[in-house]
Amino acid sequence: MRFILTGTASGVPVIHRRHASLVIEDGSQRVLVDAGEGCAAALLAAGIELASLTRVVISHTHADHVSGLPMLLQGMYLAGRTEPLPISVPPGRVQWFRDWLRGMYVFSEKWSFPFQVQQYGDIPATEEGLRIAPFPNRHLEKMRELAARHDVPAAAYSLHVSSRCCSVVISSDIAGLDDVAAAAAGSDVLIVDSAHVGQDEIFAFAAAHEKLTIICTHIPPEIEPGLMALRERSGEEVGGRVLYAYDGMQYLLEKKEE
Ligand SMILES: [Zn+2]
Repeated sequence: MRFILTGTASGVPVIHRRHASLVIEDGSQRVLVDAGEGCAAALLAAGIELASLTRVVISHTHADHVSGLPMLLQGMYLAGRTEPLPISVPPGRVQWFRDWLRGMYVFSEKWSFPFQVQQYGDIPATEEGLRIAPFPNRHLEKMRELAARHDVPAAAYSLHVSSRCCSVVISSDIAGLDDVAAAAAGSDVLIVDSAHVGQDEIFAFAAAHEKLTIICTHIPPEIEPGLMALRERSGEEVGGRVLYAYDGMQYLLEKKEE
């Protein structure tokens, strides 16, 4: 299984990073997790053909995680894609996606490929054994009442990704490390939101879980000047097991010899 961190910015627009997106490659599968602004260009920059994606999974509907989706679909259409594309979204949000895309004249039957917006319950394990299991987190908890008043569910999810070789947790945006700690404790890799979790907490978690590698993404501007020092700290304190993502970074996980 290979991960390509195509967009590693936080919710703050910056020049040198694009908003949240990453690709999971496993066998013939190429799954895009989140489609933040600029994700089509981010994929191209990483050498990934837009039409090669086999599924899109959206963790929640904050703009920095979803606003690149219509342009991604347009890019696939213009690239001549014909394969159907499933788009997996949080429960309660299917109709909103359909309405949003419809408003941009993104009509499935007009385009060269059909796409289906479906809620998470429909993500089947692949023949090669790739499983993607979203689980709810507390990222939007504080917004629950206000969102309800606007008739929108406060739905935000992290993902547990597993295959025959390994187990990975992608936090996407979280309220705190507690949201993913139990799932990450037994995993090989945690890809974590470093805009909502402090660096000391990330290092303490790495120290407490000796087999875990942590990849920090969703990098906020305020930690940017200290990244070199954080990388050095990782080498000194946890054997380099805390990594800091940049756009286009790849991470390969292979089956371990027992
Ligand atoms: Zn968010």
